[in-house]
Order: sequence, then structure tokens, then C-alpha cells
Amino acid sequence: MLYHQTFMSKKTTVLALLLLFVSVLLVAQPPAEKIDLNALHKLKTAELGGGGGGFGGRGGAPRPVPIMETMYNLTDRYGPRLTNSPQFRAAGEWAVGQLNEWGLSNVHLEKWSTVPPPQPPGEEAGGGRGPQRAAIPSWEMTEYEGAMVSPTYMPIIGYPQAWCGSTAGKVTGDAIMVENPTSMADMDKMADKLHGTLKDKIVLLGAGPLDLEFPDKALGTRYTDAELSEMVPELLPTGGGGRGGAGRGGRGGPQVSQQEQRAVQARLATFWKEEGVLVLISANGTTRGSSGVVPTSNGSPRTGDPTTNTPSVAITAENYNRVARLLAHHVPVKLAFNIQNRFDMAATDSFNVIAEIPGATKPNEVVMVGGHFDSWHMGTGATDNGAGSTVAMEVMRLLKSTNLKMDRTVRMALWGGEEEGLLGSQAYVKEHFADPETMKTTAEHDGFAGYFNLDNGTGRIRGVYLQGNEMMRPIFEQWFAAVKDLTPGVITIRNTSGTDHLSFDAVGLPGFQFIQDPMDYESRTHHTNMDTYERIQQADMEQMAIVEAFFVYQAATRADKLPRKDLPEPRRNGRGRGGN
Ligand SMILES: [Zn+2]
Repeated sequence: MLYHQTFMSKKTTVLALLLLFVSVLLVAQPPAEKIDLNALHKLKTAELGGGGGGFGGRGGAPRPVPIMETMYNLTDRYGPRLTNSPQFRAAGEWAVGQLNEWGLSNVHLEKWSTVPPPQPPGEEAGGGRGPQRAAIPSWEMTEYEGAMVSPTYMPIIGYPQAWCGSTAGKVTGDAIMVENPTSMADMDKMADKLHGTLKDKIVLLGAGPLDLEFPDKALGTRYTDAELSEMVPELLPTGGGGRGGAGRGGRGGPQVSQQEQRAVQARLATFWKEEGVLVLISANGTTRGSSGVVPTSNGSPRTGDPTTNTPSVAITAENYNRVARLLAHHVPVKLAFNIQNRFDMAATDSFNVIAEIPGATKPNEVVMVGGHFDSWHMGTGATDNGAGSTVAMEVMRLLKSTNLKMDRTVRMALWGGEEEGLLGSQAYVKEHFADPETMKTTAEHDGFAGYFNLDNGTGRIRGVYLQGNEMMRPIFEQWFAAVKDLTPGVITIRNTSGTDHLSFDAVGLPGFQFIQDPMDYESRTHHTNMDTYERIQQADMEQMAIVEAFFVYQAATRADKLPRKDLPEPRRNGRGRGGN
């Protein structure tokens, strides 16, 4: 090149430079993704009932829509699915039967244990999001009755907290307000002040009536175009998104370390028991805790002997406030409760639901799709996460019934133990791919092609979080272009947290969660008694099934596995230890 250039005129040099520039541009183009529109057409018709009509023939009764039948079974029929509860196990058995009936392969419940591994010496116990990292026994509610009986009768909208104990039949006691201590110093003061005064009392946790904001915002929303486009130009993989945000905890007091908070919780649990408190009552002043809605907490402690946990009830804010205002006016209040729960302390094994479609030419390379199967126990776990589970099952049904040929194996996993700290997916990733502590990878890690997760409720797919994986942008852009009639396909470098794709991300495997319309997830359904079948929007579910099935199909048929970020450092070398 250099040699020839000496003979070139100025004009040809400019031309050559231009050509070079154009060719650089061409080289910079990402490789074109092969888009199979025929497969997409088949998936759409299979989901929307082309010809046959999924929405019922003329005249007769509406034909059952498969995706809503799955939802019905996971919620009304077998829900809720609190990890390791009898309902969770029954729903798992139902799913296995249904997946087999659809002709899927290798359908099984893959067991894992909720008993935490022994902590290396010198490391603080705990970790997960729950009050303590402890085994999860089987627990279910069998009876609940709650009312104010004096100065007048009022039924109470309430729900026992997970893993709390039972009352000795129906109990009646005087209501008393006690502010929850946040630090060990507060705890000591409270214990001194109240020791000997709480016997046979029913304790309302809190300082007084809760301030309820007037709900002047729409209960449910979809992302506006402006909100979606704001996510696009971000350059750094930061930010939350997804769940979390408002409404967790909500204690405004001084900063106390998590370690101290856990110690206070443990001491409190013993204190209530020793003082002879009959029932503990809590409420939440957000929109998710009023107007008849009751959110759950992370449950009663599971350390020690949980069967002796003080019965603990979450009630709706208006019922709580009436009692609190009466007490503030020095009017004695009597409350009555009958709370019966059943434990099986030996049933600490959990499971993930697995089903496959074997790959035709690369069976050892695997594309995974899923979401968490477990839920909280107050509603029936429809949006969290019956929706993601149902869509994942529907993706498998669609890919199987359309008989599309795929090179790679497609494997569905519905996780247990997500609500207690992503436990099922973490156990699976550790067993099959790599332990984040050592980052020693397996042959399965080499063959892993990608994971798609849904866990943000019933809202349709509006795009995807890149999870910091910039190499995926041109691939997702081209896939989304093929379904632009269904979704704007917003791609953001943003991370989203709080669900199972993180378990894959933690060992350097490409795992993604879609951007979904918020709907009434944060304002009403997430972890509440109102997370029920009604909240599920059929058209959104159908859209999610088509888009996710198409993405899985593309990942299972493209030339290469999905590109990965660098393998993270082993945690044992200090990653994620947060500076101390
Ligand atoms: Zn969830």
C-alpha cells in the first residue's frame, strides 16, 4: 500500500481514503442475524389461535386459552406457591404433568436443599434477603379469623406472616402499641421499660396511626414513549429498574448496620415469646398496604424452632389505624384472633421445574428460559411470578407444538426459593455451571448459550436490559426489528436487579430480564393479598409468549452462542465483599 501510494495523485488519494472509510464502516456493521420470519409466523399463529381461534368460536362457549389455563392452575387451582409449602409442591407436580402432556422431554423436579451450607469461619451468617438465611420448612395457613371485639365489633382484613406460629385456639387480648426498636440500644431500653407488662397482650407494632397519602396517581400505568426513550441513551450499566424501589421496610430512623438489624430481630423474636405476647400486628402505610391491600414481610424468623414463633399478622392500614386512633384516645380495645398454621420441619428440600426440547445438531449447547415458580402466600402469586412461569411454560408449548427445528437444546427452568434470596437459581447455577466463590467452570458452562427471564408482573415486553453486555445490543436490535409490530424493543445498558438472571450473570453467563410495563405491580400486586388471577392481562401474556419464544428460537438456531462478558473474579478473591 505504502509503495503504491507514492504514485497516486491527490485525487486518487482522497478517493482511496474515502473507499477505506466506507469499507471501515462496512466492517463495523455487526454481522447480520438470520431472522426466520416463517418461524415467527408459526409462533404467532400458534399463540393467537390462527384459524381455530383462541378466543372462542362463534355461538358456543369460549374455548379455553392455554396460557390462561396455565395461569388458572398455578394460581386458583394450586396456588399460592410459598417455597416448600404443600401448595408449592402440588403446583410443581401439576406442572410436570402438564409439560409431559405437551410432549416435552426430560421433565422433572430437580431437587436442591434449602439448608444453608456451613459458613466459613469468621464470616457473618446471613446474606440472603430474608431475615436470616435459614432452612425453609414446609408451612401453610389452615385457619384465620381476626376481629376487634371491643369497644365494638369489626372484622379485620389480615393475613398471617409466613412461618409464624399458631394461637392456642381463639385468643382475646388487650391491644397495645409498641414501637419497633431499630438499634440494640433502643431494644435494651424497650426491654427494660416493657418487661412484665405484655403478658396476653396483642401488640400493634408502630408509633401510632399511619399517614395514608391520598392516592391521586393512576393505580396502574404503562411506560410512556418518553419514559422508554429515556432508558436508551444511558452509557453506563448502572441503575435499578425492575422491582424494589419504594415500600420496602420504610423505617426512617438512624442508620443501623444490617448485622445489628438482624441481631435486633432475633432478640425481639425471643422477647415477644418470653413476655407472653399473644399476637403481633403490623401494617403498611403505602398504597400497597391500604384500601384492603395487605403486603407481606419477609416472614417470621426461620432460625431456632420456628414453630414457636409468636403468631404474627399483617392487616390493612385502615383497620390498623382505627385501633391505633382509639388507643391514642385512651379507649381500651380488645382484639380476638384464631391463627392456625401447619409446619413440617423435615420438608426442607426444594425443587426447580425442568423441561426440555433436545437440540437437533448441537444438543450439548443449551438456551434457557424461565422465571421463579415460588410466590408469597397472601394472594395466589399471579403477577409474582405466575406470569413469568406461565409465559415460560407457554414458550415451551409453542416451540414444541410448532415442531420448529432448533440446533441447540432449549431448557425451561422454573425456580424455587427466589423470594428467599434467588436460592433455586443459585443452587442450579452452582451445580451445573460454576461456583461464584471459586469460578471454576464446567463443560456445561462452555456449552451455555443464554438465559431469558421474566419476573416483573403481567406487563408486556417493551424491551430488554443488556445487563452491561454491550455485545448483545446489535443482536437484540435485529431480533426486535422482526417483532416491531408487537413491541418498541427498547434496549438499555441498564442493569435490573432482584431476580434470577443475576445467578447466571454472577458466573459470567449471558442472562437477561425483559423490560415490562409496570401496570399495578408496585402499586398493588407485588407481594400482596391482591396478587390474583384478575390482575393478569391476557393480551400482554400472549405478547410476552410470542416475543420470548421468538428470542429463544433465534438463540437456539443462530450460528454462535450469545456473546459473554468477561468471567468475573472468584468471590473468594474479594469480589463483592463491599470494601471491608
Ligand atoms: Zn418475583
